[in-house]
Amino acid sequence: MKKKHCYRCERFSYSSIDSGVWLCPTCGENLVLQPPMKAISYIEIKINKLNDNRQKYLDLYDKKEKYVENC
Ligand SMILES: [Zn+2]
Repeated sequence: MKKKHCYRCERFSYSSIDSGVWLCPTCGENLVLQPPMKAISYIEIKINKLNDNRQKYLDLYDKKEKYVENC
């Protein structure tokens, strides 16, 4: 799934195809020259957030281990 940002109305438009004419469903602007971006689902956003939190925890744990080693 791809998405494009409409510079005219500031809304996102989504499509499974990123070639050919791509009209903004809100204002009708042709977005063919706008670069497509990967659209991610809410589940992917949640997974990314969980992975970020996991990495923060691991970083803290690693710092703690190094602190204990130096004492
Ligand atoms: Zn638009």
